[in-house]
Amino acid sequence: MIASEPKIGGHLSIRDGYAGAARTAILLGAGAFQYFPKNPRSLTVKAFDRQDAARCRKLCEDHDIQSVAHTPYPSNLAVDQKAAREQFARTVASLRNDLEIAEACGSLGIVVHFGTYKAGNPLQGYQNIIQCINEVLSGWSGRAKLIIENQAGDHGDMGTTLEELVQIRKLCDSRERIGFCLDTCHAFASGMWTGGQDHAFAAKAADLGFWEGLSVIHLNDSKYPARSRKDRHARVGEGFIGEEGFRQLLQMEEVQGIPFIFESEKDAAGTYREDMEKVRRWVEA
Ligand SMILES: [Zn+2]
Repeated sequence: MIASEPKIGGHLSIRDGYAGAARTAILLGAGAFQYFPKNPRSLTVKAFDRQDAARCRKLCEDHDIQSVAHTPYPSNLAVDQKAAREQFARTVASLRNDLEIAEACGSLGIVVHFGTYKAGNPLQGYQNIIQCINEVLSGWSGRAKLIIENQAGDHGDMGTTLEELVQIRKLCDSRERIGFCLDTCHAFASGMWTGGQDHAFAAKAADLGFWEGLSVIHLNDSKYPARSRKDRHARVGEGFIGEEGFRQLLQMEEVQGIPFIFESEKDAAGTYREDMEKVRRWVEA
């Protein structure tokens, strides 16, 4: 059973505020969008405009649009609380700030990359991630989730397997407040998923209980072949995953109702309209 209208859209600018991003999504006929809650290159906590956020929330409710926030790039869940005390505190404060903004905007949650740790034993890196997530979610009673995204492998092995995502979620204090973001480019680049003919992927994801945590899909094609470990997004159907790969993914029962977000170049008109139409066609056919 395939839902007729997938929730789909791209990453949008908050140049005109959170409500401005929501208005753009409405204008484009999108069913979903992603935004940076604040400057994507900094962990500085933002004193955000609550009225603007409330307007965003209302617009999205009225137009049945799902939004999701993407945390700034320096957010690293694997930061060590002991070795980098100050950076850990900054990271936690920033993520908590992102959660508050996402909550006020009525968003599903905040997408954060799995994390990188190069200082030594990877087990310490995983412990750091759990510690950081527990700290961020401690006392958090909002509906917005912390959504962990799989990585391409361009900065090391960490966060490139289904097992890691599932285990981290399991080992954290409040599992129900944690979701997954499946980035198709990253999954393809890391070899987690090798495209259309990869039937083992879905079965493994089901065995591990990955699907029950899935919150968002970043629908990006890949400019490089499977297992290349290169994080280079292409527009859907224009990379090595290709139309067939996406068609198969979109047909899967487990992804129905999950918002799809493009993080790729826009079309000539500066919108995601062409790609949204493409995906809608693939889902129907
Ligand atoms: Zn992504």
